[in-house]
Amino acid sequence: MNNQNFRPVILTIILYAVLALVFTAVSMVSRPSGTLVGVLRPLDEIPAHVFLLAAGGLALGFLASLGLRRFDIWLVILIPSVVVLTDLDHLPSALGLVQAVRPVHSFVFLAVSFVAVAMIIRRLDLSVAVMSGFFAHLGVDTGIFPPLSPLSFSYYHLGPFQVEFLAAASACALAAGLLGRRRTR
Ligand SMILES: [Zn+2]
Repeated sequence: MNNQNFRPVILTIILYAVLALVFTAVSMVSRPSGTLVGVLRPLDEIPAHVFLLAAGGLALGFLASLGLRRFDIWLVILIPSVVVLTDLDHLPSALGLVQAVRPVHSFVFLAVSFVAVAMIIRRLDLSVAVMSGFFAHLGVDTGIFPPLSPLSFSYYHLGPFQVEFLAAASACALAAGLLGRRRTR
């Protein structure tokens, strides 16, 4: 098994999860009164939704391996992890707290995560893999999103862009693999 990606991938997953929790916490404070607040989807729908997200992420992980031209278990693990961890922002409502709807499903969060992974983990390929997982999540979720959270809590229906998000997720997965290949050569 190839282990050279083990550490950076695990660190990237931890960094992404921490950033998601920080953004969620910030949104609890910065959310103006009158912001849409949400509750969890019905509990019996969660496993199927998470499974769909993880399966999509797994497919993208294999696509990244295609770009890399070798199977890399850590790259395959990273993308579905990011896809699923994006829903960490439901944690307050799971704990019974009032919270804004989907504070981490935001392009501001994506930009911060992208830059943080590039600067802290120092791996552009992993930044692009994170972007792939994030876009995949938006491609599977339905309903309303706050694209500029936590700067603005205006909500939009992004459903009409699902195909574009999934295309972007695929392109990013492939690009992450290609960038990884270039780095190891
Ligand atoms: Zn979601």
